[in-house]
Amino acid sequence: MPSARLRRSIQLAAAALAMSEAAAFDLQGHRGARGLAPENTLPAFARALAIGVTTLELDCGVTRDGALVVSHDRRLNPDITRGPGGAWLDGPGPMIHALDYAELARYDVGRIRPGSEYAKRFPDQTPVDGTRIPRLADVFALVARARNATVRFNIETKIDPTRPEETLAPDEFARALVREVRAGGMARRTTIQSFDWRTLRVVQAEAPEIATVYLSAADTIGSGDRASPWTAGLRPRDYASVPAMVKAAGGAIWSPAHAEVTPALVLEAHRLGLAVIPWTANAPAELERLLDLGVDGIITDYPDRLRAALAARRRALPTPTPVER
Ligand code: MG
Repeated sequence: MPSARLRRSIQLAAAALAMSEAAAFDLQGHRGARGLAPENTLPAFARALAIGVTTLELDCGVTRDGALVVSHDRRLNPDITRGPGGAWLDGPGPMIHALDYAELARYDVGRIRPGSEYAKRFPDQTPVDGTRIPRLADVFALVARARNATVRFNIETKIDPTRPEETLAPDEFARALVREVRAGGMARRTTIQSFDWRTLRVVQAEAPEIATVYLSAADTIGSGDRASPWTAGLRPRDYASVPAMVKAAGGAIWSPAHAEVTPALVLEAHRLGLAVIPWTANAPAELERLLDLGVDGIITDYPDRLRAALAARRRALPTPTPVER
């Protein structure tokens, strides 16, 4: 294991690379392109690649038999999941962590349940019936089929410190993800993001070549004397701001909830040398607000809208790479 100092310099170099390779601006397709295609699926990642993004944002979990799979939910989500017989789940389904990959692959996640609140949020999503939850390795293979040698992966460890029984422990989870990223040869093109900063600490210690991204929202940061379970022991009262906490944790990239981003926070983050990449902004007016604030990237369900906003500002755009069939 490299010395702490060497680790830190490798880690800073990885973060600098992550930021410079994000070209002028890091256009991130959230769960692929959730506004346009079924979230966290190969059709959504293919759609994002065809539109042209800098980064594919995605979430991951680990099955009982150790497969790294792409899913936002620790339990199968009844809003997007039909069972092996084709019927919609009538409540939260089994935990991904309790299923083998072969069992998980029997569920269909290619459509939002018609009539649900979730469906109303994404009226432009085109369903692709029969779509399965992919493995991370399948996403890497898809990108190779698109002959895209530069798109990046921003991979979130979906772990909730208040529900430890629903996933692997943070160190095991982080190690499983790092192994899979390295096995796919994608360490240089990957950032690992989490609201659970414990997983980021493990990545920084054991895989300094992979940059980390500190997700935050007011309720994960908490307030007062006690550390939130999400922040790896850091207490907000000990720091002047959330960016200062991220910096103290060893982070170089901060992903705040977009509505919580203020001009002062962007200035503070930049003063500390952090990149700011808010999640998940979709409304054109909000995209404009964030661009005006000088953020370094944006995570969006509608990468097409963000491209249009960047094009109007004459900003450099990532090259579209449709997947060849
Ligand atoms: Mg995510």
